[in-house]
Amino acid sequence: MIYDLIIVGLGPAGLTASIYASRYELKHALIGSLKGGTASESHLVENYPGFESISGQELMEKFFNQTQKYHPEFLYVKADQISKNKNLFEIKTNEGKIIKTKTIILALGVQHRILSVPGEKDFLGRGVSYCPTCDGPLFKDKIIAVAGGGDSALTSALYLSKIAKKVYLIYRKKIFRAQALWQTKVDEEKKIKKILNNQIKEIKGDSLVNEIILDKPYQNKKSIKINGLFIEIGAIPSKEFNLNPPLKLKKDSAGYIVVNYRQETNVPGLFAAGDITGPADKLKQIITASAEGAISAANAYRFLTKRTTRI
Ligand code: NDP
Repeated sequence: MIYDLIIVGLGPAGLTASIYASRYELKHALIGSLKGGTASESHLVENYPGFESISGQELMEKFFNQTQKYHPEFLYVKADQISKNKNLFEIKTNEGKIIKTKTIILALGVQHRILSVPGEKDFLGRGVSYCPTCDGPLFKDKIIAVAGGGDSALTSALYLSKIAKKVYLIYRKKIFRAQALWQTKVDEEKKIKKILNNQIKEIKGDSLVNEIILDKPYQNKKSIKINGLFIEIGAIPSKEFNLNPPLKLKKDSAGYIVVNYRQETNVPGLFAAGDITGPADKLKQIITASAEGAISAANAYRFLTKRTTRI
């Protein structure tokens, strides 16, 4: 069987692409594992129009249900490699199967950036976490730290302050890069203690995390006793599978896929949408990923039908 379109990724970009593809009646399937992608880890989304305040998980559930309404195929496999043979793409799965398709939308998203300090790997799941929504409730009335200075770090600190006794927010510069609104809310939250111009050098503990060592002293001490650490220092393009050879897909210096305004990559028939596409400093929100998903599906349809006029 040959598909019109395969969408790789189940985040806002992939799910929106599927809704549009269904409405264009493209024979398509989605590949992915994390329903809703990393957007579903957002505790609170207050800037997606139509929903004044909703959790990322709930919003993504709504995306997913709307996608399912059209009955696209969900292939619960992992894509290992993509190649192109004449006008057909071949996706090799982890089970060794080959999926054939005329077009592809890559909506793989990003993965958490790591601090790369001693103890980070050892204590993962034992006090170190990259997902406050998933693990936050484990730290009721405990002392925790959040590393980072962007929107994720500040929204996480705010969310965790509702659960924990105290939250240290540790950022390497003097002024947060997060939206002003989050900074104001952090300043108003008494449980959050800001540690600025400082970095975590090491994570220590026994069976569980109990201490972090700082680069510079905080209140005359170079370490802080904590029960948990949430690392929220941004993301890097997903390395889920080796996209480059044999496709020669063009990426920028930061590893993001280069696309034009139609979400086309340099490989005809291969589109990309959402956080996996560059440039690195573009606005990365659920609404922008979703819009790019729609644009990519529309242009996949245009490509398949060889339309030259506006859709
Ligand atoms: P960002 O890339 O915006 O911020 C990452 C932060 O981590 C920066 O402050 C950065 O420091 C810091 N950092 C990076 N590497 C290290 C390191 N090795 N050690 C210490 N600190 C480090 O990522 P976010 O996840 O915060 O946000 C990603 C995107 O998602 C953004 O576009 C954001 O606006 C959006 N978002 C929006 C939300 C909302 O509005 N509801 C919620 C969450 C995310 P430095 O500043 O020095 O570079």
